[in-house]
Amino acid sequence: MKVLKFGGTSVGSPSSIKEVANIVRNIEGKKTVVLSAMSGTTNALHEVADYIINYKEEEANQLIDDLIAKYVDVAHELLNEKENQEAAIALISDRFEYIREHVGIEIPSSQIEKNIVAQGEVLSTNLFIFHLKEEGAKATLVSAFDFMAIDEANEPVISKITEAYGEIVAANTNTEIFVTQGYICLSHRGKIDNLKRGGSDYSASLIGAAIKAEEIQIWTDIDGMHNNDPRFVENTFSLKELSFDEAAELAYFGAKILHPQSVIPARKANVPVMLKNTFEPNAAGTIIKNCDVPAGVRAIAAKDGITAIKIKSYRMLMAYGFLKGVFQVFENYKTSIDMITTSEVAVSLTIDDTTHLNEIVKELEEIGSVEVDTDLSIICLAGNFTEESKGASSPIFNSLTNIPIRMISYGGSNYNVSLVINTENKKEALVALNKGVFGR
Ligand code: ADP
Ligand code: ASP
Ligand code: MG
Repeated sequence: MKVLKFGGTSVGSPSSIKEVANIVRNIEGKKTVVLSAMSGTTNALHEVADYIINYKEEEANQLIDDLIAKYVDVAHELLNEKENQEAAIALISDRFEYIREHVGIEIPSSQIEKNIVAQGEVLSTNLFIFHLKEEGAKATLVSAFDFMAIDEANEPVISKITEAYGEIVAANTNTEIFVTQGYICLSHRGKIDNLKRGGSDYSASLIGAAIKAEEIQIWTDIDGMHNNDPRFVENTFSLKELSFDEAAELAYFGAKILHPQSVIPARKANVPVMLKNTFEPNAAGTIIKNCDVPAGVRAIAAKDGITAIKIKSYRMLMAYGFLKGVFQVFENYKTSIDMITTSEVAVSLTIDDTTHLNEIVKELEEIGSVEVDTDLSIICLAGNFTEESKGASSPIFNSLTNIPIRMISYGGSNYNVSLVINTENKKEALVALNKGVFGR
């Protein structure tokens, strides 16, 4: 079985949805198709949820009406048979009525939001199934709520996913195409939850790993992983091949084409991940697999929203127990650390989740003096930085002579060099690195 995931733009219009069905049809063998919501829908549903949570009923109803009108148009354009159009419109009304029922309801606002944003994927997969069935495909819609689960720490419950999805596949021997929702799942309490923005990639990887798929294909709006962020840099180019380690670093450090955690399940199960362009299906794309990494820098990504915390010890730094004390504070607040650098007098580290920043700073002040810097970005250079690539770091630093660097991490792994800079300098840094490192 292959797992094929199509992102928001890929299912963003009736004609794109038909193109997705063509791509799926042309791929041999059984497949699981994982869909995102139509592009724009998740954002719009967040807006609806915000209106509802803030008692702006009129605005919520107006936006819901606009969305219903949009989806009814999609159903008319996508489906040929009147009966199917009517069934699709009934489904659309039902989902938006469910959303409207959240007005004035007495549940935590975070749950209201999760219930509402989940409907985007429910809508796209149902519409796609109507279309596939009209085309005569042997297709089955599988609800993500029947197998995709996360635990108290918001980590996927691999055993549940593997067992439940395996059973669903085994019970539907005649099905050629399984269709399911990306992004959405159930929490440990059995409530509607999600795998965070962009999470459909993660769903696809989790399913692919669970069933030991032949391949996971991530179909999107670009021809694979580029050497640099195409949203900020011109003249980027697509990479033919990446190792799991490189791809994992790039995804984690901001390459939006992949959800930050999405490479991990595939890497663990050794299932290759192909990145493909829905709008240029013949372009080679990028294959992510176990492979040797050529020396030097291969690709650059940037992650925003970084906060750096510097702790200067009151006692001698690096006296034993000091770092343990520092890390304990972050553990207490379940806040993960992205990058660390040390000197004799201080340790600097970065976080992206600032939910508990005030409490963390307060506790750290018991160990040392604390300074906090916000609005930072991590620039991640992925590639091969082992001995055989000596000299690879000089073009990096030569490119950045005009940009103040707050932290540097080299040697943490053989596959990554990271720098922390002010976010306002990010674009300039990415462009300079594209020129200095890749000559473009
Ligand atoms: P989807 O909706 O299909 O999940 P996304 O918008 O999440 O698509 O991801 C695709 C986008 O990722 C591209 O359009 C591109 O702008 C952005 N992107 C950022 N960094 C990279 C990179 N290194 N290579 C390719 N695309 C990237
Ligand atoms: N629809 C969700 C989002 O917009 C998930 C995804 O697209 O992967 O974040
Ligand atoms: Mg995405």
